Amino acid sequence: MTHQAPLLTADHLEQVAAWGEASRSLSYVFRPSTAEGVANVFTLARQTGQTIALRGGGNSYGDAFSNAEGIVLDTTRLTRILAWNPDTGIIRAEPGVTIEQLWQYVLGDGWWPPIVTGTAKTTLGGCAAMNTHGKNGWRKGTFGDHTLEFELLLPTGEVKTCSRTTNSDLFYAAIGGAGLLGVFLSLTLQMTRVYSGLLEVEAVARPHMAAMLADLAEHQDTADYIVGWVDAFAGGSSLGRGEIHRAYYLPEGTDPAPTQTLRRASQAIPDTIFGLVPKSSMWMFARPLTNNLGFRAINMAKYWAAVWRNGHRYRQSHVAFHFLLDYMPNWKRSYGRGGLIQYQVFLPKETAVEGYKAIFGRCQQRGLPNYLSVLKRHRPADFLLSYALDGYSMAMDFKISDGRRGKIAALAQELDEMVLGFGGRFYFAKDSTLRPEVAQAYLGEPAIAQFRALKQQCDPDNLLQTDLWRRVFGSFSISASQLVAVS
Ligand SMILES: Cc1cc2nc3c(=O)[nH]c(=O)nc-3n(C[C@H](O)[C@H](O)[C@H](O)COP(=O)(O)OP(=O)(O)OC[C@H]3O[C@@H](n4cnc5c(N)ncnc54)[C@H](O)[C@@H]3O)c2cc1C
Repeated sequence: MTHQAPLLTADHLEQVAAWGEASRSLSYVFRPSTAEGVANVFTLARQTGQTIALRGGGNSYGDAFSNAEGIVLDTTRLTRILAWNPDTGIIRAEPGVTIEQLWQYVLGDGWWPPIVTGTAKTTLGGCAAMNTHGKNGWRKGTFGDHTLEFELLLPTGEVKTCSRTTNSDLFYAAIGGAGLLGVFLSLTLQMTRVYSGLLEVEAVARPHMAAMLADLAEHQDTADYIVGWVDAFAGGSSLGRGEIHRAYYLPEGTDPAPTQTLRRASQAIPDTIFGLVPKSSMWMFARPLTNNLGFRAINMAKYWAAVWRNGHRYRQSHVAFHFLLDYMPNWKRSYGRGGLIQYQVFLPKETAVEGYKAIFGRCQQRGLPNYLSVLKRHRPADFLLSYALDGYSMAMDFKISDGRRGKIAALAQELDEMVLGFGGRFYFAKDSTLRPEVAQAYLGEPAIAQFRALKQQCDPDNLLQTDLWRRVFGSFSISASQLVAVS
């Protein structure tokens, strides 16, 4: 069937909000269901002088998929599994397939996606474009490390097949390239073999930052996944205290009923608490507590609960371990009208303890502690625009309100300088505040120049643009009051 090129009419206008809802804008949204339909949106952009931002599941916290007053090409109807080999664990799928659809498809055959994000609502295209990581970053690397091949539709209309050996420059640049070089039309991925639907999990409390990081380092040779939660309100000798969860795959033969635990139904997360209160309404109860005082109390209670159950071991489904945040749908609404931003920074292992102590200390000094901090261990990646390094990341959630917006923007600028001083890096998927000079400092001029040259080849008319691209790679500079995603 031949598709007509769509029209740029007002019925395509929609409000497009960043995942954190701290920014939103009006765009023409198109949801093609075929590769031809995707190509037609490019024809339309060319005819109307518009630019296009690609959007997957819309889970980037900031403006990575926004294109104010331009076109947003939503890929969530491109959801076909194109090939699956249960013997090798190699799958080929369209870009709008989510991590949730992926694990549901492969688990029954004894496979699990090698890299999963903290929500299962992300798409394969979005994960490749940001080169996402999981709770096993130091061991398994990033999404791109398990991508064998992809087809990329360039804005010129050409489709390029890319792998480590074919069009390799494009392979290493489009992964992590934030959807600015072309559209992933299909991705071929290697899954990880698992022998049970369960993980063995161990939870421990640690009294300060140095102990937290030392614990991650100590278990990195044995654990399959490690994730830390840090109480950003604790000060003095308790600065950086928190809880760590380590998880281990069950070796073959140790799960007495693998055919049952590997079933999709065994992974289901209950959608009520105590069988009564729907989890989707829990955010309403959390909302009055989403302020400095409330979160100080929540963080303190969480820490002492961790101390109380220190050393607790249990078995948990993959889904329950990985997608904790999906347990409470709509939890971001508890942040109120202004939403939230996340600020995730990566520090080398040599400077991480001092660096994170300094960052938490500065946030506390400014009266802007973050409400949720998540610590992970990573290794470097080979991709052109990369956040990954041999060290640790801390993802920090900040509430945005009219009164705090400017202060958070100023704080982010201060923290940027500190992160650069500690040799750190940043992550576009979580970004709302980065300035061009900071991006240039951590990515380096040669990498940016190489990326721009590839963009010129793949997208000579500069059709693919996002608000993030203009903010971070635009030649203009931005004042502090414009930062934190202008609404
Ligand atoms: C609750 C929560 C937890 C998270 N946990 C993690 C985590 O543990 N680890 C992690 O790394 N990230 C995490 N993230 C961030 C998230 O994984 C990334 O932002 C990811 O890119 C989102 O995927 P998406 O499908 O929603 O893509 P979107 O957010 O819609 O888009 C992301 C980027 O991909 C581009 N893009 C989308 N589709 C295509 C395509 N077909 N071709 C080319 N480019 C495309 C877009 O232009 C954009 O630049 C989390 C986010 C949330 C909300």
